Amino acid sequence: MSIGTFRGGVHPPEFKELTENCAFETIPNPEEIILPVSQHLGKDATPQVKKGDDVITGQLVAKAEGFISAPVHTSVAGKVLSLGKEITPTGFPKDAIVIKTNGTLEGERFRLSPLDPETITPDEIRARVAEAGIVGQGGAAFPTYVKLSPPKDKIIEVVILNGCECEPYLTRDYRFMIERPDDLISGLKLIMKALGVKRGVIGIEDNKPEAIKLLSDKILGETGLEVVALKTKYPQGAEKMLIKAVTGKEVPPGKLPMDVGAVIQNIGTAVAIHDAVVKGEVLTIAALTVSGKGIKVPKNLLVPVGTPIQNVIDFCGGVTEDAVKIVVGGPMMGVSQFDLHAPVMKATSGILVLTKEEITENPETPCLRCGQCVGACPLNLMPTKLSRYSQLQRYEDAEGADITVCMECGTCAYTCPANIPLVQWIRLGKQKVLEMQKERAAVTQ
Ligand code: SF4
Ligand code: SF4
Repeated sequence: MSIGTFRGGVHPPEFKELTENCAFETIPNPEEIILPVSQHLGKDATPQVKKGDDVITGQLVAKAEGFISAPVHTSVAGKVLSLGKEITPTGFPKDAIVIKTNGTLEGERFRLSPLDPETITPDEIRARVAEAGIVGQGGAAFPTYVKLSPPKDKIIEVVILNGCECEPYLTRDYRFMIERPDDLISGLKLIMKALGVKRGVIGIEDNKPEAIKLLSDKILGETGLEVVALKTKYPQGAEKMLIKAVTGKEVPPGKLPMDVGAVIQNIGTAVAIHDAVVKGEVLTIAALTVSGKGIKVPKNLLVPVGTPIQNVIDFCGGVTEDAVKIVVGGPMMGVSQFDLHAPVMKATSGILVLTKEEITENPETPCLRCGQCVGACPLNLMPTKLSRYSQLQRYEDAEGADITVCMECGTCAYTCPANIPLVQWIRLGKQKVLEMQKERAAVTQ
């Protein structure tokens, strides 16, 4: 077994011990769920219900629109209370359907008909994944069936399951690997079948020896499947880093994994694909880690999509007196929350409640020109330059220095001894450059 990795990166304290031995628990249905019609990259889904409608669990409530989109199904039975703008974990309000739970309807549940994974065709897998509303569970929430439908001229050679879970605190994927190894291997085989690929790799960081051993044992005797141990380093789970570590190939700037013959899927996505095909389940449950020293009882949870963050925190005993910050996602790429009415989304991987000792509050000082951020950037960018160009609104220079290539992993900011909010500046500059590029494209059309 090889130990693969990539250049740069950092190794923040892991804090995995808070939840790694916590088996998934199912949270009870909340009184009310909030279902944003956009829980994916791409076009918003279109509501299929109106105020006052009764719905059963699993029912389609918003239909996918266009090629890059995903339908939304309700995770509870009840009555549609309203359709309108609601706050989301991004901090921005989005169109959403609010449903009031009704326990008496709970017995009924919508399911698709189960399909045989042995005889199912690639087209049927894609159709099922689309119908079940599956989106990438790794954070970006890209509709999964689109990833399973590469253009004909792209030859895919390998499917890589991302079992790195390189963000500190998060242990959700680890629990899937420990608790549902057969189902995730089944999901991996379905992804390989959909893409006509003979090689499937499960990439796992070497801080998860139990998962490496268990999955290696499970695939013994299977043709085309491998478990690859990877060095524990952030951001090992980023697509480009994972491909480099597993295949040695570099995805050129501006290109996609499929351009080097690879498709990456998250562990949780593979499990969701198995459930959709074999059990006929649509995606209504988010698997997530609730952790941090500021939560009273850290847990791994299965949560109805749309559950307000506050309910999840209450289920974990609430926050400690010294809690100062709540983040959705991991600490490196997650988003700070200011309204706990925001719902858990399909791709929510974690809710972290952090105390003062877990966050940096040191004041920003001028750049020391130490070059640490440059050495740490896994994409060989110049974070200090990109951030500077953004501050000075020199967006053309930022474009020339490849600001759009930045994956906003936060590695540079983590290393910076001057506490410069490098990613925030880069994110802002990147947005401006992307707008500029859009305007340019509109003029030339
Ligand atoms: S946030 Fe961007 S610039 Fe900073 S380390 Fe990550 S990829 Fe490099
Ligand atoms: S790590 Fe911070 S202080 Fe050092 S060069 Fe980069 S921006 Fe400047």
